[in-house]
Amino acid sequence: MDLNENVGGRDRLARAALAVVLTVAAVRSLRNGKRLRGLLAGIGALVFGFNATSGYCGVNDVLGRDTAGGESEDEETVVSISESDEGDASSDEESIAGSKKERGWTLTCAACGNDIVTGEARGPNESGDIVHETCN
Ligand SMILES: [Zn+2]
Repeated sequence: MDLNENVGGRDRLARAALAVVLTVAAVRSLRNGKRLRGLLAGIGALVFGFNATSGYCGVNDVLGRDTAGGESEDEETVVSISESDEGDASSDEESIAGSKKERGWTLTCAACGNDIVTGEARGPNESGDIVHETCN
């Protein structure tokens, strides 16, 4: 199939399973005289059945989601990562490490607004916000 395949792997299997479940539900509902439910389940079965067999999902298309060819994509990612490591990796790593340090995980006191330094006495106040023990 050449038409924008964007459903694959587990997603495709899940949709196939859903199509089966919905088909059963549709038949049951229609037998019980619940025509609307049977109709909706039948439509769902058709949609998911179409997704599973064609590998194309309009919703995935709209969302820019692509679950097709997961395995080959993983391989490509691994390759591209190992390639980029050899270039100017050292400077990249430094800048990443630097930004991580700057952004670092800091707690802010909900009472006074100042940072709570590691090791400083702190605790949740009545509303569950973390504050300095002295601000509580
Ligand atoms: Zn404080």
